[in-house]
Amino acid sequence: MTTLEQKLHFDRIIERVEKARLRVNDHHIVKIVAASKYVDAEAIKSLYAIGQRAFGENKVQDLMSKSEALDELPIEWHFIGTLQKNKINHLLSVRPHLLHSIDSLELAHALNERLEREDRTLRALVQINSAYEASKSGFLPEETNEKYLQIMQECPRLVLQGVMSIGAHVEEPTVVQKSFETTRRIFETLPNAKVCSMGMSGDFELAIACGSTLIRLGSILFPKE
Ligand SMILES: *Cc1c(COP(=O)(O)O)cnc(C)c1O
Repeated sequence: MTTLEQKLHFDRIIERVEKARLRVNDHHIVKIVAASKYVDAEAIKSLYAIGQRAFGENKVQDLMSKSEALDELPIEWHFIGTLQKNKINHLLSVRPHLLHSIDSLELAHALNERLEREDRTLRALVQINSAYEASKSGFLPEETNEKYLQIMQECPRLVLQGVMSIGAHVEEPTVVQKSFETTRRIFETLPNAKVCSMGMSGDFELAIACGSTLIRLGSILFPKE
């Protein structure tokens, strides 16, 4: 795509997000994080050039290499994938803006310990497996509140900001909707939670209707030629 085509394509997506958020209410703000796992640093740079500032990667290695390659740009980096404990040091070296995927107490404790040693904090979300899918990580809905509060208490270096989840991997919108509503309902009960990260290319409008405040868009932002 030419730069102009890319800009028009991006504008059309922004318009859809805008329509969906206004259907919730005037004050409902939705942030877009570009999930850039399918593309290289050059493609990130061209989306940055037309105004996108927040990018998310799901592999620590990719986050490291792309953030290094784009070091000169003030990009806000998010980590949206499953984090292995042995990658914590690498993740922290990038100083990401937000970690979306705390999916176990062990991971929270390991992060807290490392952050403590470096006298730092990290903004993070707790991942909920609201679709009850074996292939997905995250806490089950019924245990999330307790674990969230436990992490808040035991891991003060993690500044919890809310929750993340991936919509049910099915065609029926009602099932996807139910998983989003589950996440939103939990989000509303959590102390100081500001970020409800849900919605991807195929379901972001539904996610916004269910109260998402942050959508992670990949394939729709980076269409193949
Ligand atoms: C890839 C990815 C996305 C974006 O997916 P698309 O369907 O391509 O928009 C969102 N969230 C996570 C965790 C991802 O890994």
